[in-house]
Amino acid sequence: IALSMPTALVTGANRGLGRETARQLAARGYRVFLGSRDPARGAAAAAELRAAEPALRLETVTLDVTDPQRIAAAVRAVSASTDSLDVLVNNAGIDSPTGQAVLTADFAVIDQLFATDFFAPWQLTNAFLPLLRRAPGRARVVHVTSGMGESARLAGGADSAGYALARYALNGLTRIQAAALGGEVLVNACCPGWVRTDLGGPAAPRSVEEGAASIVWGATLPADGPTGGFFRDGRPVAQ
Ligand code: NDP
Repeated sequence: IALSMPTALVTGANRGLGRETARQLAARGYRVFLGSRDPARGAAAAAELRAAEPALRLETVTLDVTDPQRIAAAVRAVSASTDSLDVLVNNAGIDSPTGQAVLTADFAVIDQLFATDFFAPWQLTNAFLPLLRRAPGRARVVHVTSGMGESARLAGGADSAGYALARYALNGLTRIQAAALGGEVLVNACCPGWVRTDLGGPAAPRSVEEGAASIVWGATLPADGPTGGFFRDGRPVAQ
């Protein structure tokens, strides 16, 4: 029975939105691979989730999304455990409170932001494409994005230009990938809203459950669902 369960990989799943997205997908019957760059933190997160809900099917994968060798090793690890992947959630992400103002940018910071928030989702999609293409139905890719990358909000992004531009680029990548895949795999960018996590901070209005639900929506679209779009809570956001 376990072999016929749909499978999902969530990056950055040891805490925050990734962990809750993994939990919600597992609760819906997915066998979920929790990606974590620190294997001990990944194992701890999986153990905590299983302790609360023993029926959840969770496995851990060591995956620093900015390390091409780790990506290749993660593809091998997931391939050893399943023939196909139904869902890839590119959730791992960083923001930086300093060094990314547009007029005084620290390009070491910008490099790191783009590596994690833009290049990694692109590279991971390509790396997992053979497994995604073998999914029995249409596989789904979700890029976790931010309203900061909405074109209408870019003019207000002077103090966080690196993050905003990495997300704007990710939203653009979503459209290009969707067109290239022609509906074979549904690729969408989903914004969780402003969420109380380590990244979002305690003042954010949304719970991690609400934010993750916006991501899970994109991961569990029907086969005739949209592709190439930008959504929050299942509603389109102007790119
Ligand atoms: P957290 O800071 O709580 O968690 C980030 C996760 O990403 C951690 O698991 C972290 O791992 C992981 N991560 C960071 N860099 C890497 C890397 N190089 N390789 C693998 N994993 C990595 O953030 P959130 O849960 O709030 O954010 C999740 C996503 O949602 C991000 O992409 C973020 O930009 C996006 N988002 C969040 C919003 C919010 O308000 N919270 C709003 C809009 C978008 P580790 O523990 O090892 O650091």
